Amino acid sequence: MLFPWIEKTVQNYCKEQSIDKSKLINLGIGDTCHPLPDIISKALITSIKEMTRTNIGYNNEQGLSELRCAISTNIYNNIFSSEEIFITEGIANSLSMLIRNFPKGSTIAILSPTYPVYKTLLTLLDINVIELDIQNNFSNLPEQEDIDAIIVCSPNNPTGIAFSKNELQTLVCWAKKYDTLILYDGAYESFIFDDAIPKSIYEINGAKQIAIEMRSFSKSLGFSGLRLGYFSVSKELKHKNRFLLAIYKKIIAATTNGVSYPIQQAGIAAVSNEGLKEIEKLSFNYMEMTNKLKLHLLSENQNVLGGTHAPYLFLQIDGCSKKYFKKLLTNYQIITIPGIGFGKDGFVRLSGFIQENTFQRASKALSF
Ligand code: PLP
Repeated sequence: MLFPWIEKTVQNYCKEQSIDKSKLINLGIGDTCHPLPDIISKALITSIKEMTRTNIGYNNEQGLSELRCAISTNIYNNIFSSEEIFITEGIANSLSMLIRNFPKGSTIAILSPTYPVYKTLLTLLDINVIELDIQNNFSNLPEQEDIDAIIVCSPNNPTGIAFSKNELQTLVCWAKKYDTLILYDGAYESFIFDDAIPKSIYEINGAKQIAIEMRSFSKSLGFSGLRLGYFSVSKELKHKNRFLLAIYKKIIAATTNGVSYPIQQAGIAAVSNEGLKEIEKLSFNYMEMTNKLKLHLLSENQNVLGGTHAPYLFLQIDGCSKKYFKKLLTNYQIITIPGIGFGKDGFVRLSGFIQENTFQRASKALSF
């Protein structure tokens, strides 16, 4: 894993230079930097007070019915019933539950470059991994029947670009032809502000019968420390001749007793009209920062890609991305993520999850 290497390299640098890590310009890990909106803190406090007055106890392991109904109505416009929604502690948790349906020796495809956790998780579970080059835009998906599932992240981390409707339609047709389950990671859907780009795989014809979409409040609302997400499995979804809804109901019942009550109450607030407005506001703000950083880098004649539908920029560099990471750290005090961590050397990823003061410092430092 690259992240421990980054941590160690940064720590050593800070020690050698007697610098506090907080003084560095952090464009590294893609974590949010705004505090929780009031509507969320109010929901948390109210539900904790409720728990001091009355015993709440265990809840449905699939999630509070009120939260699942709100997601079904406010997010999915009732294309799913609340029975088809599963509440989890975020996408990391959803994915590890979803993968339990695949025995050792199964084959799952991932895209390259992409979020490195997919490969780590699959390898840990002795699942064979096939990496498909993302540049192909699904134009040459392999004509093979033994790929049990494919994990697709759109908008993608680290490239900051989402797939178009046509590209996703190609993917869905291919998946149906070969009975390959699509595990669709929508961690960054709230950052899409282009109506032509699908925010959900379910905007694509036939997707309900072959895709499971995972979503999270980590990036959209700063829940990375609270932990809340969900995934949806249609009643119609049949994979390898098995209806998956019943299977995932068993898996969730066997692996969790549900997400904490106050956090689910915060989730109900998150998908209310006011919560959705906060999501839009915060996501727009991060995309503005990303765009400013991109424009600055372009004005410095840098070859910078992405930042279109998610707050990540992919800066093209000459040579080894780990070396370039060190150069940016030592010459400019900037933390980034080497592209090799996502399976693509020759790039570093810069995060746009920043506030104005970090942008100002970064743009001053990045004057080449
Ligand atoms: N999926 C992608 C593509 C991510 O980049 C991340 C975090 O960086 C996650 C999932 C993690 O999401 P969660 O916090 O909901 O577990």
